[in-house]
Amino acid sequence: MFLRLKRVEKYFSSNKITKALKPLSLSIDLGQHVFVIGETGSGKSTLLKCLAGIHDLDGGEILLEGKPILGPAVNLIPGHHDIRLVEQEFSLKKFNTVSQNLEMALDSTLLVKQKKARIKQMLDLFGLHRMKNKLPTELSGGQQQRLALAVALIELPKLLLLDEPFAHFDPQLKSRIFEYLKTKISDQNLTVITVTHDFRETLKHADKVLVLNKGKKLQYEKVSLIYNQPKDLYTAGLLGEFNMLKQKGEIWLIRPEELRFSDVQTEQAVKIERVEFCGHYYEIVVSDKFKDEHVVFVNEIDSFQDGEQVFLNAIPMQRKLGEKEKLIYA
Ligand code: ADP
Ligand code: MG
Repeated sequence: MFLRLKRVEKYFSSNKITKALKPLSLSIDLGQHVFVIGETGSGKSTLLKCLAGIHDLDGGEILLEGKPILGPAVNLIPGHHDIRLVEQEFSLKKFNTVSQNLEMALDSTLLVKQKKARIKQMLDLFGLHRMKNKLPTELSGGQQQRLALAVALIELPKLLLLDEPFAHFDPQLKSRIFEYLKTKISDQNLTVITVTHDFRETLKHADKVLVLNKGKKLQYEKVSLIYNQPKDLYTAGLLGEFNMLKQKGEIWLIRPEELRFSDVQTEQAVKIERVEFCGHYYEIVVSDKFKDEHVVFVNEIDSFQDGEQVFLNAIPMQRKLGEKEKLIYA
């Protein structure tokens, strides 16, 4: 096993004790891309800092290839040379140019030719060519962020930890970086753990997803399984829109692609009030027979229009809402 967490605990005691991570156990294989999702304050950043050896643990241990990752109490220089953490706050060497910042992050034993090629590759990947001789202070915030990530990626670690470092990148740049990571994951067995709030990124790039809530592991599974079989409404909502549909006295959770408008009669007759196009789905306000309005999410509206009477048709309906917002599978 590449990475193993055994009952990892982390507390903070400023005024009262915050249990940022409750005993958390999980294993990660080499060459995987794991995404960590959860609402703000659920312990995602704390987890990455523990993994990077920046925090001391309050319980349990973390093993990288069988060897414990030590925190600052034991390890005088915090961090681990096989692990790199990239956060939203970044540090650049402000008296050195863009190229020099990249060069300083490179393995010093490389030949000049090799160094030049690697620097060029990063400048290309991050679209920083025109700025290569500028100082970080002459760059925009977004460009500085790109440079910080380029500095982190120019010499790949065994384990790369990304804590929302590209939240403000444009979509093309983001997909270029994810493609780059994908090749490194498959060619060089790089292991990556990414924290993001963008569920489309998670759905597209994750091998496995860890769902955290208040420092607790809720689910850790393949991404498709978490999307289709979330444990509860909290988890379901982290990976995209869903509908709650009442049918035969029970409430079912239906993803937008599982819901259709139909002219064949079902239990749910509604009138389309307003349609809003949201890219990969539609957000639609419908009213029921009591004139109560509801919002539904569907991927297709076919030729139905505002004002029309339609029936909601859901297939498949495998998820039923049980007690305490937990989902039950038929
Ligand atoms: P997330 O990254 O999921 O938003 P964090 O890991 O940053 O969550 O925080 C988890 C909990 O731990 C929060 O309640 C937060 O306030 C607390 N916390 C995080 N870092 C510290 C710290 N350095 N000192 C005190 N409390 C902290
Ligand atoms: Mg965070």
